[in-house]
Amino acid sequence: MKRNILRTFLPLIVVILMLLLLSTGNREESGLFRRTRLLMGTVVEISVPGEGDRARMEAAVDEAFGEMARLENLLGRRQKGSDVWKLNHNPGVDIPVSAETLDAVSEGLRISDISRGAFDITLGRLMELWNFEDGREAPPSPEAVEKALKSSGSGNVKIDVSGGTIRLLSGIHLDLGGIAKGYIIDRAAELLVGRGVKNFIVNAGGDMVITGRKGKKPWRIGLQHPRREGEVVAHVDIDEDVAIVTSGDYERYFIHDGRRYHHILNPSTGYPAEGLMSVTITAGDAKTADAICTAVFVLGVEEGMELIDSLDGIEGMIVDRDGEKYLSAGLKGKVVPR
Ligand code: AMP
Ligand code: MG
Repeated sequence: MKRNILRTFLPLIVVILMLLLLSTGNREESGLFRRTRLLMGTVVEISVPGEGDRARMEAAVDEAFGEMARLENLLGRRQKGSDVWKLNHNPGVDIPVSAETLDAVSEGLRISDISRGAFDITLGRLMELWNFEDGREAPPSPEAVEKALKSSGSGNVKIDVSGGTIRLLSGIHLDLGGIAKGYIIDRAAELLVGRGVKNFIVNAGGDMVITGRKGKKPWRIGLQHPRREGEVVAHVDIDEDVAIVTSGDYERYFIHDGRRYHHILNPSTGYPAEGLMSVTITAGDAKTADAICTAVFVLGVEEGMELIDSLDGIEGMIVDRDGEKYLSAGLKGKVVPR
């Protein structure tokens, strides 16, 4: 058990230690103000080029962290008392939920539609069964997977936007893990903009919203190598406001009998999606990037790239299981592979 916990949290611990070595909460490097906090199971960092009214900027950054914590407590399946927790614990009942939950669920259902079910916010029971968070060492039985899979399906989410309620049918449980992080960092970015912070990055473990510029230069973003921790697989220079999100089979997983079992499930089998190691998506906002990213991971190279190409303002890079990289048209020439 101890080994499990260590293995589950080792990458996180390494990241935290690195951050601690580099900083004590705030870091300033060539005029860049950075602050980090542990949220959504990862290290969230807000970076702001240190210009303008310093006290106002710091207050806005603090407020943005507070807002992210508040939203995590609404949208998290494992957060006792969250909207999602209430829904999952009250089957068949119209539950009043916050405007943010209505929003995130509506967006989740929309992406589910356009990805023809590859993105699915109703995999709560399967995620509870696989329980990647607490260090599972072997896959669940096929019978258990089959059973949990039966309690899923977006048609079982009854949403009443004007009444402000959601009802879950057929014993399904919601899991917004594939979209919540994006939704939450979008809101943090909106808050910063509303407080007059013009240039910043909100980075939640590699999923980021990038706004404005770092001085006169574009932001240079490194994309995590799916197998070599701490190494980048490519760089991309960002000179416009954009969200970049990556989904990978290395984020939460265990190895059993030489096979990798990771946290992105194929809704048609109930088992981890096969074929890819990572997907990176850029979009105008992080909630769309986040959900599309997870969907493309499930769809694989061909169908995934078709989905990316069919959507305006969305680009992507797919890394398949052999490490082969595929870029959508709009990223060619922008992403510099290493
Ligand atoms: P991401 O890291 O954004 O790709 O999201 C992975 C998380 O999304 C998992 O930890 C689950 O909470 C949830 N998830 C897993 N499979 C799916 C899926 N097919 N559709 C939507 N959400 C999923
Ligand atoms: Mg996602």
